Amino acid sequence: MTQSSEKSNHFEVCDRDLSSETLDRYLQADAIAIDTETMGLIPQRDRLCLVQLCDPIGYVTAIRIEKGQQEAPRLKQLLENTNIIKIFHYARFDVGQFKYNFAIETTPIFCTKVASKLARTYTGSHGLKALVQELEGVELDKSSQSSDWGNSQNLSEAQLSYAANDVRYLIPLRQQLITMLQREERWEIAQKCMNVILLLVELDLMYYKDIFEH
Ligand code: MN
Repeated sequence: MTQSSEKSNHFEVCDRDLSSETLDRYLQADAIAIDTETMGLIPQRDRLCLVQLCDPIGYVTAIRIEKGQQEAPRLKQLLENTNIIKIFHYARFDVGQFKYNFAIETTPIFCTKVASKLARTYTGSHGLKALVQELEGVELDKSSQSSDWGNSQNLSEAQLSYAANDVRYLIPLRQQLITMLQREERWEIAQKCMNVILLLVELDLMYYKDIFEH
């Protein structure tokens, strides 16, 4: 891990795609945390509004996605770079958004929710708030979770700070979860799970459900 002692509070908002300077910065990281805000849970119906990214020193960017936008080439270059691990909480949703909207094949993927379900079998609480509370000792304010992200030119301070916080803890969370998974000898199965997420996304977008069930 690139763990610098200088933590950054940098937060910038940009339109449609990363700037080339920010892309260059993120391309130097070994891991990037990513989250999205949308109008709802169905990619075919509910548009993507905001994409937040954070690097290991805490440099956060939020990209406002325009209505009808069909490409984000710099974001694609980052998400498809096989040397940089992309960390999500419930990757299946965000990776689906990227594939559906911009034909991006995100890889490699680490999902903190899947890792939590494999490692933390002593609890049923695998939401980001519970995870950040237990492993980082930080109380996340999720009050903007269900809010109108469609008016992306006029997002409130509360919405922007919520959006930034959703990516700030994912990189340290991944480290903690890997430690737990290794301790419990579940790291190999975890890696196999991460490698099927893109396939699940593809099936989701083709409306297949439960094809592995009887
Ligand atoms: Mn979020």
